[in-house]
Amino acid sequence: MNTSRITRLQERMAADGIDHTVISTGADLLYLIGYSTMPLERITALSVPVEGDAVLFVPRLEAPRVPEGVVEVVAWDELDDPIGMLADRCKASDAIAIGDHMWSVFLIRLLERLDDPRLVPASELTRRLREVKDEKEIDALRRAGAAVDRVLARLPEEFPFEGRTERQVAEDLRRMVVEEGHDEAWFAIVAAGPNGASPHHEPGDRVISRGDVVVCDFGGTLDGYYSDVTRTFSVGELSEKAREVHALVHQANIAARDAVRPGVPCQEIDRTARRVIEEAGYGEWFIHRTGHGIGLEVHEHPYIVEGNTEELAPGNAFSIEPGIYLPGEFGVRIEDIVVCATDGADSLNNAPRDLVVVG
Ligand code: ZN
Ligand code: ZN
Ligand code: ZN
Repeated sequence: MNTSRITRLQERMAADGIDHTVISTGADLLYLIGYSTMPLERITALSVPVEGDAVLFVPRLEAPRVPEGVVEVVAWDELDDPIGMLADRCKASDAIAIGDHMWSVFLIRLLERLDDPRLVPASELTRRLREVKDEKEIDALRRAGAAVDRVLARLPEEFPFEGRTERQVAEDLRRMVVEEGHDEAWFAIVAAGPNGASPHHEPGDRVISRGDVVVCDFGGTLDGYYSDVTRTFSVGELSEKAREVHALVHQANIAARDAVRPGVPCQEIDRTARRVIEEAGYGEWFIHRTGHGIGLEVHEHPYIVEGNTEELAPGNAFSIEPGIYLPGEFGVRIEDIVVCATDGADSLNNAPRDLVVVG
């Protein structure tokens, strides 16, 4: 009894010469068998041999939560030795793929029982599967994208930015993300004025005031799949410089989106966005990669970054999020999630990208 995704993993393992894969908690487990659980000191581990049935080891008390009829389940009791049970299954393996999120304590204890196998991160295998989204996955991503677009549409009308703290606006964003259909809101960056120059700013007590540029970057999960969108707002009218920088980032966003096509190396999308910003003299202030893959994790392969020569393929889902960060002044970022389709980028975020003036 194996899921079709486990079968595809086994095909990859055979091609790469991997005898066994061990996946603990995390997105790979969710992807392969539709089960997720908290990472705790009692080990949960999916053992996948290159041939034959996979087995999921779970603590007895968590076994009732495992979906039935998906994979063979071995529930271990408090006095059992689950690492020993796992080691028995892996014993004859020369090469083992280990889940990226397996705790080192489990891996160290497992290795004590094995005869020095070659180890590789399981993501070398699973990324090849997870990077190419199927229709159901794209549908979930699309619904998540549409939901955060609806939040953006409500934003300028529902409350003023001026006079409220970043934290208050962030709380509103999280609430609206859930109201619009997400199961959970996972993050909301609200960075006003000079705070915007820190791309991952933690919203704080800064009171938003007239003239501020405000970066809002937020998202959550809907049916397990992430949204992640950024728009930059202007509280009242802006300085000429802020307008110019926003227009530039917008241009970089469009150029990168237009460059998306199957067969184009990931780094070429990054270069396209960066070229626009560099040519205008702001290159040193675009301090991060252009994007990241997205799916069951908010950041996953493929990464849209210099050095990644991997070619885009239909079904890849990733962000395009150029930004310019001017220390002591402000920041601007415009982020969309796109899917690589056969004829170009299919944008899952379509909220206006122009500078929106709010009260
Ligand atoms: Zn980020
Ligand atoms: Zn984001
Ligand atoms: Zn992002």
